[in-house]
Amino acid sequence: MTRVRFAPSPTGDLHVGGARTALFNWLFARKTGGTFILRVEDTDGARNTEEAAQGILKGLRWLGLDWDEGPDAGGDYGPYFQSQRKAIYDAYLAKLDAAGRVYTEENGAVRFKFSRTPITVHDLVCGDVAFAATEEPDMTVRRPDGSYIFHFVNVVDDIEMKMTHVFRGEDHLSNTWKHIDLFNAFGTTPPTYAHIPLILNPDGTKMSKRDEGSAVEKSYMNEGFLPDAVFNYLCLLGWTPRTEGEKLSREALTNLFDPAEIHNANARFDMDKCKWFNAQYLRALSPEALLAGCRRFIEAAGYEIKDDVMAAAAVFSVKEKVSLLTEIPAWVHYFFRSDYTYENDVLLKLKAKPENAGLLEAAAAGFLSLAEWTEASIQLAIEDAAKSLAAKPGALMPLLRYALSGQSRGPGVNTIAHLIGQESTLQRIERTLALN
Ligand code: GLU
Repeated sequence: MTRVRFAPSPTGDLHVGGARTALFNWLFARKTGGTFILRVEDTDGARNTEEAAQGILKGLRWLGLDWDEGPDAGGDYGPYFQSQRKAIYDAYLAKLDAAGRVYTEENGAVRFKFSRTPITVHDLVCGDVAFAATEEPDMTVRRPDGSYIFHFVNVVDDIEMKMTHVFRGEDHLSNTWKHIDLFNAFGTTPPTYAHIPLILNPDGTKMSKRDEGSAVEKSYMNEGFLPDAVFNYLCLLGWTPRTEGEKLSREALTNLFDPAEIHNANARFDMDKCKWFNAQYLRALSPEALLAGCRRFIEAAGYEIKDDVMAAAAVFSVKEKVSLLTEIPAWVHYFFRSDYTYENDVLLKLKAKPENAGLLEAAAAGFLSLAEWTEASIQLAIEDAAKSLAAKPGALMPLLRYALSGQSRGPGVNTIAHLIGQESTLQRIERTLALN
């Protein structure tokens, strides 16, 4: 049974690189029917915060990366916070001591005696990476204050938690020989490593916290991305599944996942492409699911949703116009309030021709007489009103759009009129005519 883990250090937001590392671990566990473990590497009391740990869990949950063992999930190998595992580390240090592999300095620091033999990492992604016998000084594993260093606790926990594979960022590759030296000193077999190339900015520089698209909560959750779209996009940063097309479900990605196909070169982040994925996923949602996704953004923009059925139809009517859920409120606000403002050029266009008012009045008269309020009957009434004044429907349509929404772009006029209802349609035309 495969066992893999995501082992974040909670120093800040969940970074897109960390999210992708978690994702590849998750895909591998799900593909192989194994176990995905979340372990919080919080031994650095000065830099780690509970808030950051919670933020990371939140980001992982949002992406749909559920863990089988770890915080909140429990499991046989806990606790899953390294800050609570000191007794285990003490016991492992005693093992190294018994094997004659550590010594204590005058200041109390405990050092691990490197084997000083050549060490080769057999990496699933990077191939065999050979390290010559080291000339570095022996590695401190326990500081004078009794706290343990990252390399030691990382290895102890990978042994204790019975990890079979380790997928992690390529930035750890250069230290992996130290880890293997420790595994050997404990008399255990190291896990199989897969070091994943980094995610770079579009210009090839290293992505940092402040760069576009770097933080999961700030750049995606709050910006109106759908988890499925981000999941799909991140998978393709550094991996090309062997199949047609790029829009792939979680299930398809899981079935296709093969760590041997992970690229051995850094990936470049492309926000436009990520948005393109989001647009594709957004368009495939049902009206109800789309409303569920954008409700918080509509409410945050100050619009009250009173009728869910109408609101779902309203947001659905603009889905082709947007890439992000956050763009939706600006496209649908007039469905939720009748005191919308008119775009400037809309007013100018309305006033530009004296016959415009007559056209709107004819449409209002037609709408008033409709017994049945459907998109089809509304469409017919618009065509009849235009004909009665020897105008083309194409001349009346934009005027009605301005009147009903205050905007020059949007879904079909008959769709708008149908959704806001007959009464509101008539009131809006009246309100607009009064502007002239
Ligand atoms: N805590 C380490 C990090 O955040 C984990 C390294 C590993 O996965 O082994 O980079």
